[in-house]
Amino acid sequence: MATSAVTLDKIVSLCKRRGFVFQASEIYGGFESTWDYGPLGVELKRRIADAWWRDMVMAREDVVGLDSAILQAPKVWEVSGHATGFNDPLVDCKTCKGRFRADRLQQAACPRKPSRHPGEHADCALTPPRQFNMMFKTQVGPVEDSAAVAYLRPETAQGIFTNFLNVQQTMRMKLPFGVAQIGKSFRNEIVTGNFLFRTREFEQMEMEYFCRPEESAERFDYWVGERLRWYRSIGLREENLRARPYAKEDLAHYAAACTDIEYQYPWGWDELEGVANRTSFDLSRHSEASGRKLQWMDPDTKEWLTPHVVEPAAGLSRLVLVTLLDAYAEDVADGEPRTVLRLHPRIAPITLGVFPLVKKEGMPEKAREIVRRCLDLFPVFYDESGAIGRRYRRQDEVGTPFCATVDGQTMQDNTITIRDRDSMHQTRIPLDLLTPQVLGAMAASR
Ligand code: ATP
Repeated sequence: MATSAVTLDKIVSLCKRRGFVFQASEIYGGFESTWDYGPLGVELKRRIADAWWRDMVMAREDVVGLDSAILQAPKVWEVSGHATGFNDPLVDCKTCKGRFRADRLQQAACPRKPSRHPGEHADCALTPPRQFNMMFKTQVGPVEDSAAVAYLRPETAQGIFTNFLNVQQTMRMKLPFGVAQIGKSFRNEIVTGNFLFRTREFEQMEMEYFCRPEESAERFDYWVGERLRWYRSIGLREENLRARPYAKEDLAHYAAACTDIEYQYPWGWDELEGVANRTSFDLSRHSEASGRKLQWMDPDTKEWLTPHVVEPAAGLSRLVLVTLLDAYAEDVADGEPRTVLRLHPRIAPITLGVFPLVKKEGMPEKAREIVRRCLDLFPVFYDESGAIGRRYRRQDEVGTPFCATVDGQTMQDNTITIRDRDSMHQTRIPLDLLTPQVLGAMAASR
């Protein structure tokens, strides 16, 4: 039974202690909410991305993939509206010198005591909000002048729109079809924080689903449902997920509908993914500006149309944090407190721990042989050091769903005990059934 609630501090500390996430440039004191993924973190992130790619691209005939460049012609961002319109309202406090997002003062803290929101101390002196553009500027080539300015992409989506014709024609796609992409995006956020939740460099998993205009409302509803189902399929708890539709007046000017998929973080409900009906806005704008006809001809009627787009846009780095928050639990095992990550077997950084009960009688060799057999199939970890209970505990804390132990009986009859992380039950099974059992659990949705 879980005994206490998860906090962000517990997750940050576990991440550092067990090699999930380290502070970037740590030996120099760190750098502005940037993070490096350690051996287990990179594995977790990769496995989440693989699960998304498998379900969004490989398992579907109507979606193909793309990997577009982070640097694009500046014109792309002018036309998309980002160069001038990708702004957040910024306020400064002349008293404490703090910087805040004007639309999020109620989620921010004034750095002074007693703890209050910015603007709530008698001598807070907030400036009127001014628009702050979040595009990261850089320079291409050796000459520093305005012609050399380029931007790091703030979203992966635009690379999909500019490649609409390339993808449609080379793959002979017919409406409706989607183009999916996973990659880094950069936003010069005014305020970062909550660990991986809001950073300036982050990863996104986005898909643009092109369809006939009259179908877009139905496709939109489909994708909201599909994305919620997907989060449950990788193990997130139903009670921590919800869909929050936007009111008409809160929609971006080009959007016909938008629903955020929200997660219940320790600080409350907040965004995990946005699903938007972007209409034909992006394709029309790029068509107009480039002079290329970003349209599709209906092969039956021979009519040209500009597809509408439904976009499920998720944060990969944000989802790493969410899977950790969702999986974290503290309970009691054999009379001792235990920290456990109940990660779904599909995304756990290590799927199987393999232990020899003792370091003799051929058990280490047998265990190593099992590791070699499993290496191609899923991430596996060999551990022979310390008492067996301690080895289980170490794997529990990093979310390893199964541990297999080679003991004296294994050496006689080729059976092995397999221990389940969540129930802590051990069962003895023929060695031949070990990999089918683990693979079966990876494939099963909770
Ligand atoms: P928010 O309201 O949280 O700023 P957004 O609505 O601007 O997010 P989108 O442009 O819809 O975000 O981006 C899609 C997804 O990318 C978000 O749902 C989120 O998961 C992720 N994302 C956006 N900005 C960041 C960031 N600064 N750090 C980490 N992930 C982010």
